[in-house]
Amino acid sequence: MGRVFLVELESAGGGYYRCRLCDTPLALADHLISDSFNCRKGKAYLFSKVVNISVGPPEERSMLSGMHTVEDILCCLCGQLLGWKYVSAHDKSQKYKEGKFVLERWRLSEVIAEHLNSDGHPGSSDGENP
Ligand SMILES: [Zn+2]
Repeated sequence: MGRVFLVELESAGGGYYRCRLCDTPLALADHLISDSFNCRKGKAYLFSKVVNISVGPPEERSMLSGMHTVEDILCCLCGQLLGWKYVSAHDKSQKYKEGKFVLERWRLSEVIAEHLNSDGHPGSSDGENP
């Protein structure tokens, strides 16, 4: 396995998701495709991009939506199994998931962007005096 690079997401401004066990940032709320994804263990999130992960070898797996080639996703820091990546879908209707990442919700903690624009710049709008 190659060298692992931690990528910081915290400067991004929006909300993000991190590993529940070690707090490593994993994905931006901006890259969330679906928060109503279901897997056998419950709810999961579908992302277009995740970081700070290592992936396992590709394998054929029978999912709820049919056969897929997937790779397990592990947290690069603590090694927790987080979810999987869709490498290819056998069913044409599932092709949109190829190259996407599924993270199981109960393995994540969610960081909501707080106080966006609440204490930053004063309003820059200006009205003319009548
Ligand atoms: Zn972790």
